[in-house]
Amino acid sequence: MIQTRGLAYRYTGTDAGGALHFPDVDLAKGAVLLLSGPSGCGKSTWLALVAGLMPPTAGTLEVAGQPLQALRSVAADAWRAGAIGFLPQKLHLSAALTVQQNLAMAQWAAGQPEDTHAIATALAALGVAELAHRKPAQLSGGQAQRVALARAVLQQPRVLLADEPTASLDDEAAADAVGLLLATARTHGATLVIATHDARVAALIPPQIGGQIGFQSLHLLRKQLLKA
Ligand code: ADP
Repeated sequence: MIQTRGLAYRYTGTDAGGALHFPDVDLAKGAVLLLSGPSGCGKSTWLALVAGLMPPTAGTLEVAGQPLQALRSVAADAWRAGAIGFLPQKLHLSAALTVQQNLAMAQWAAGQPEDTHAIATALAALGVAELAHRKPAQLSGGQAQRVALARAVLQQPRVLLADEPTASLDDEAAADAVGLLLATARTHGATLVIATHDARVAALIPPQIGGQIGFQSLHLLRKQLLKA
């Protein structure tokens, strides 16, 4: 479902020695990857490459059956809307819209008509159906994250990417967030990547997951910033 080979990315303005080089990854459908490492080691960059937000400087990657290295931005946008569910660290719920309208916006962005039944089903699956008519400011942090997760899986994505999902959560809420991500990915048969610098997350992934669905852990290091 996700396969990368020799992936590298160099931000404009950095010299060749500043390129990020990533280890190769092979993830099957339904597998779980914990992408860990300190701040600045390249986790967000890797997520952006896998989501087709920018082409790699070097290497190849295939995500949900789509070779991404040569995909042009308009085609990448259309592909991403259907194939990738993204739970960003900053949830980006529009403050002016209700929960229901925020999810409708995601359908609109994916080029689909509003489907209130699908929205209600996604919210109910995450236990927040009764919040449909609230504005984001009226939600707790945990509720807002559930809403954002419902939005991420609205299009039945084959790949679910979560960026620092436990940042600033206490231990109990962090355990809830990771449990919810694993359960949601399993429900949708999606391949899940959790990118985090939070050392607690590894311990929150049950050991039996390895046997069931193929759990991998990849620790990125700052030395990958150095020229390979
Ligand atoms: P992480 O998500 O692990 O904190 P990032 O992928 O955000 O790491 O960043 C990896 C490296 O790339 C860091 O050294 C960061 O400073 C650099 N970087 C990130 N975004 C940009 C950018 N837009 N321009 C230049 N350098 C960047």
